[in-house]
Amino acid sequence: RSMSSITVQPPKCLQKTFVAPRRHMFGPGPSNVPPRILAAGAEPIIGHMHPEMLEIMSDIKSGIQYAFQTQNNMTIAVSGTGHTAMECAIFNAVEPGEGVLTAVNGIWGERAAEMAERIGARVNSIVTTAGGYFTSEEIDRALAKHKPVLFFLTHGESSTGVVHPLDGIGDICHKHNCLFLVDCVASMGGAPLHMDKQGIDILYSGSQKVLNAPPGTAPISFSERACQKVFNRKTKPVSFFLDMTWLANYWGCDGKPARIYHHTAPVSAFYSLRESLAILAEQGLENSWRRHKEVAEYFHEGLENMGLKLLPTVTTIVAPPGYDWKEITSYIMKNHNLEISGGLGPSVGQVLRVGLMGGNSSKASVDMVLEALRDALRYCHKSKV
Ligand code: PMP
Repeated sequence: RSMSSITVQPPKCLQKTFVAPRRHMFGPGPSNVPPRILAAGAEPIIGHMHPEMLEIMSDIKSGIQYAFQTQNNMTIAVSGTGHTAMECAIFNAVEPGEGVLTAVNGIWGERAAEMAERIGARVNSIVTTAGGYFTSEEIDRALAKHKPVLFFLTHGESSTGVVHPLDGIGDICHKHNCLFLVDCVASMGGAPLHMDKQGIDILYSGSQKVLNAPPGTAPISFSERACQKVFNRKTKPVSFFLDMTWLANYWGCDGKPARIYHHTAPVSAFYSLRESLAILAEQGLENSWRRHKEVAEYFHEGLENMGLKLLPTVTTIVAPPGYDWKEITSYIMKNHNLEISGGLGPSVGQVLRVGLMGGNSSKASVDMVLEALRDALRYCHKSKV
């Protein structure tokens, strides 16, 4: 028996080869990653400061400017998920004691409020029922009352399925000397969005929805007005990792000749993100918006023919009465290898959520979901009687 300093043995479970199951990812995200993007992510690693990497970052920046429809120089991808970008926006734009107003019509406004509270902001929220939206008058009144420096709104509320109208809200915010922050994690590429024309000051998204890239990178952009606030703070933002002064240099957005190491970029994730933006650019943003709309309409028609009720939106189905939604989603996963999901936050137990994003936005996918739902309703019903 040889002497070993090891007291924890190599785990047996790691001796098994791992192969990820093949699934149709038709929930609210992540979506399926097409072979071309998977292949990009499997390219060899280079250094995070190598010139080729800086070029990839520059390409990503151009791709995000296209996807967001913005000329903003301060446009980057944060290393992290949608939540990381949310915190990046709030932590950089708000100082302790300043006011934040969040629009709550699902869970994302609640989470934004919680993030702002954590950095000592004065937080107020306007709240409407899940599935509802806010009128310009309501927003105007709330801004006049609370005088926040930042107003948060979710464009595509993935917990309820609402696509919130954006036109005119930027101007209202600016009239009140407030920055307009918009979450487009679930909507970017799937519904019309014009950052510059709509006066959005900070806009962020995620990689794993319409872009069809793996989760883990998050596009974000800051307007000139937002930069004025972000780069003239009295206090440093609470997070070093998300400090836009550092990230602006890291992404070559601060005009300085030298790039300073900030963190080791998730190199493979940037390859994938670049490829996903290249595909969006090739296909064309307007074509992508149109396809998502047409596929959603085709889907809705099929659902209504089955007698299912919809919330007034893209992907949220009112859970059919008498059924247990968990039984439906598990049945579909087990028998059709297909993910759809239940509600989230206020919509728990009331809805089923189907996401058909990027390459998954096709009539063939719709037919697959409808067939699975039809089958589940038949089977799950039988199992009850
Ligand atoms: N905002 C919205 C609207 C989302 O749908 C999601 C993801 N479900 C997020 C933010 C958070 O993104 P992530 O899970 O990548 O952190």
